[in-house]
Amino acid sequence: MAGDFTAEQKRYLEGFASGFQASRAQRATPTKEKPTSPDAIHFAAQDRAIANGGALNEQEKIKREEHPFDAYSRLVAQTKRNEPPKPADNFRWRYHGLFYVAPTQSSYMCRLRIPNGILTHWQFTGLADLADSHGGGYLHVTTRANLQIREIEPESAVAMIEGVQSLGLWTRGSGADNIRNITGTPTAGIDPQELIDTRPFARAMHFHILNDRSLSGLPRKFNIAFDGGGRIAVLEDTNDVAFQAIEIREGHGLAQGVYFRLALGGITGHKDLARDTGVIVPTIEAVEIADAILRVFIDTGDRTNRARARLKYVLDQLGFDRFLTLVEEKLGRPLLRAPQEAIAPRPGFDRLAHIGAHAQKEAQKSWVGVALKLGRLTSDEARGLATIARDLGDGDIRLTVWQNLLISGITEARIDEALARIEALGLATKASPLRAGLVACTGNVGCRFAAADTKRHADEIATHCEERIEIDTPINIHLTGCRHSCAQHYIGDIGLVGARVPINEEGDTVEGYNMVVGGGFGAEGAIGRELLENVAATDAPRKIESLLRAYLAHRATREESFA
Ligand code: SF4
Repeated sequence: MAGDFTAEQKRYLEGFASGFQASRAQRATPTKEKPTSPDAIHFAAQDRAIANGGALNEQEKIKREEHPFDAYSRLVAQTKRNEPPKPADNFRWRYHGLFYVAPTQSSYMCRLRIPNGILTHWQFTGLADLADSHGGGYLHVTTRANLQIREIEPESAVAMIEGVQSLGLWTRGSGADNIRNITGTPTAGIDPQELIDTRPFARAMHFHILNDRSLSGLPRKFNIAFDGGGRIAVLEDTNDVAFQAIEIREGHGLAQGVYFRLALGGITGHKDLARDTGVIVPTIEAVEIADAILRVFIDTGDRTNRARARLKYVLDQLGFDRFLTLVEEKLGRPLLRAPQEAIAPRPGFDRLAHIGAHAQKEAQKSWVGVALKLGRLTSDEARGLATIARDLGDGDIRLTVWQNLLISGITEARIDEALARIEALGLATKASPLRAGLVACTGNVGCRFAAADTKRHADEIATHCEERIEIDTPINIHLTGCRHSCAQHYIGDIGLVGARVPINEEGDTVEGYNMVVGGGFGAEGAIGRELLENVAATDAPRKIESLLRAYLAHRATREESFA
């Protein structure tokens, strides 16, 4: 988002900046004694865990021994020696966005931070060049509307992250126990139905984190998302903190207007969507309230058992009321509540609006959604798309959690030209309802946790089903390689989670999946229920064909969900 703002972007950013400064001034009033260093609140939490008879988990010990942000010179020295990291440093370097992913690839993966998933055409070109010069020559769009570059030799690791920083982008805090990329509605500022432009909030949260070291080194990773009410889902209810734009109706004792509803504790791999707290947040206070939530989490999160170190478990243990009271104590004032009946229903999603041409709120302008091959694009394709965004669009590339991207601001008269140029790159601007909702994590070609080659199998499933069944409604199929659930299998209409599938009594196994069905998000939010176990990957396409046939035969209407 650096540089190249449209007039509309500038208006929002300037408006936000003044409001945010006011909000910071309000928070500057000291209500508690200040810790002596940014790390002191973390040490104090660790000390309490030890005093209560616990033993710090390995990662807490690593953080305590040497803070990753104090170890950059060692990372540089390792890079000069072309040395892979030892396990403790492999954890530390994730604070800098570098993941050594052996044994699947004997190289680093670099993950970025791109607030709201929006970057400029020249940043996208620059990343494609970095992928060529220091990586494997391709980029992955992630399920957090972010980018990853893989196959980076140890000797190129520092050049990669410094190259990213030179583009005005960042990698810091994109891994380990940190607040991950801040997501926001991908059509922010251009969506005809949005309630609020999420870009200023995602950006402010992004810089708030980057410029406050005390917000690094949490008990575990932490996700924050802003939904602006647009047509494309950002899946904010899968986040630890979900800010959901809503409108307050007249007549409930609250000022009418747009607020964020606050939902907490989403972690779909542990079978929980974020739950509504009853709290509404004046939009100008969102960053301040997120900060208070983070500080309560820092104080109360589990530093001994990593399996229970996410926010969900703090909420389960304390209860929402107690947790919110602690947040209010941090803030020094009560949170604002609104009854359900005061809140107007959110405008609906269009589950195909991330693919193809769609009218923006500005007359004669459209965004075009490009279908990527399960989030992967070559550096040549990335440069080609960046050139189209520069020549025909407003210059922005907008990543979505659906592992694809939008080119925005294309004038109506040049839509056909844009579509033709995208297709000339070998990329599609159309996708079947099945491929549009197909999501897959990295899988075992790049992630050591994976039990299956998710992206390849996802492609095989889609190809098999498209050849045999006519699907007339959007269907989401999510494949994750392991229970970490990076592709959110529990919220898919059909979800597949990788498993080694036994094939004989001698203990031989093949790649395969356990399957869940009936998940959803937003108003249809649901955690999928287990349906099938131990399906060999080679059988998965036929099993899914059968599920789809059964759904088509038994649904009452086209709109009826898979549940
Ligand atoms: Fe790796 Fe598991 Fe995440 Fe897939 S879901 S990328 S296998 S950690």
